[in-house]
Amino acid sequence: MKPFQNFLKNLRRASKIIDLPDEILKKLETPENIFETEIEFKTDDGKTKKIPAYRVQHNSARGPFKGGVRFHPDADLDEVKTLASLMSLKCAVANLPLGGGKGGVQIDPKTLSRAELERISRAFFRAGTEAGIFGIARDIPAPDVYTNPQIMAWMLDEHEKILGEKSPGAITGKPLELGGSLGRMYSTSHGGVIVLEEFLKKCGKKPSETTVAIQGFGNAGAFFAEIASKRGFRVVAVSDSQGAIFCDGESCQIPKIREYKRRFGSLRGNFCQGDTCDFEKMRRERVRVISNDELLELDVDILVLAALDGAIHEKNAGKIRARTILELANGPITPEADEILENRDITVLPDILANAGGVTVSYFEWVQNRSGDIWEEDFVNAKLEKVMKNAFSDLLKIYKKHKKPGQKLNFRIAAIILGIERITNAMQLRGWI
Ligand code: NAD
Repeated sequence: MKPFQNFLKNLRRASKIIDLPDEILKKLETPENIFETEIEFKTDDGKTKKIPAYRVQHNSARGPFKGGVRFHPDADLDEVKTLASLMSLKCAVANLPLGGGKGGVQIDPKTLSRAELERISRAFFRAGTEAGIFGIARDIPAPDVYTNPQIMAWMLDEHEKILGEKSPGAITGKPLELGGSLGRMYSTSHGGVIVLEEFLKKCGKKPSETTVAIQGFGNAGAFFAEIASKRGFRVVAVSDSQGAIFCDGESCQIPKIREYKRRFGSLRGNFCQGDTCDFEKMRRERVRVISNDELLELDVDILVLAALDGAIHEKNAGKIRARTILELANGPITPEADEILENRDITVLPDILANAGGVTVSYFEWVQNRSGDIWEEDFVNAKLEKVMKNAFSDLLKIYKKHKKPGQKLNFRIAAIILGIERITNAMQLRGWI
């Protein structure tokens, strides 16, 4: 099923529980604006290339549109529309005064030189700025898959050239030197750890009693591993696209694992070359190389998904043994898998809550840029803790309110209800409905 159909399925399920009128549901199913264009750029050998690019602005009742821009060969309108809609809900769940948007440029950045990447980034932002899409009080992009602070810097520079003035708040996730926020780099992971702690408190469990396996050891997964370990969780296994490692001791030493990844490019590469593995080295380091599928099926308390969308699907959902899954990635569980997990009483802490730390600190960056202030890292982190704790407690209230005997309800649908109610309220106040 296409991602937007999946989104609609969940949106409609949540709407039914609260008897949302059709007129309002239609509004939430339909983005306010779709900017679809072809951007032209010069390749290094002087040819002109055209590539599809999108910016979807889903709902701005609560504030300007906010959401990342991804550079990916599969980024199409359906995907960007889905992610923009989820951003509206995510911002509402975190109670940020922002709407939802998302951008996509259909290109494989791995095939580009740095100069080509810069020309594409500038061309995309120029097109959006000239069309009146981007702007500090209109629509504020940020990094997403395969985009980074350097790309945000080029985009900002292009935007300001057209404007003829500085406007650092027009984009977030920037380098610190250009107005980026302290704490932004690891904010998604930090927010995820806070959600997990709040959930465990509710279950009466301590981090030191909790084992965690993490799929994905990139930006989000590696910071999650580091922060969770520092706060007492027992991270026992991690994976990347090449394979997984399981730590036989009490728990993994994350700095050591980061070093494996840095030195050999992959976690597995420290112990194996092709099919040949150094078992003596594994024994010494108390590590076992396992497959990616084995990591997903480990008997741990918490499984953190920090890699890809669709990682848990109808074929492997029945094999998951963790009692709780935290979605740090966007959309890592398909709706079919959601149903299987729900029937097996496995709790899912959904992406629109669990990874909202990233957009929250992006929002803080925007606030700092608009006021000209620079916040200290501790201040940013303390504010993030508060936002995430409030979001979790608001979600719990909605869950308890709608969880009736015999009525199926999971945290994803409860979070969507929370988002819908907040957006609907804003639309009503504005007289849009
Ligand atoms: P990244 O590219 O830095 O990391 C992805 C990691 O997943 C890599 O280590 C890669 O090797 C690994 N991976 C890929 N396929 C795998 C597989 N089959 N099994 C195990 N590992 C695999 O990306 P990221 O920024 O960490 O983002 C990861 C997810 O989190 C994405 O869905 C992204 O949208 C979401 N997310 C990230 C942020 C953020 O601030 N970075 C914010 C919100 C959501």
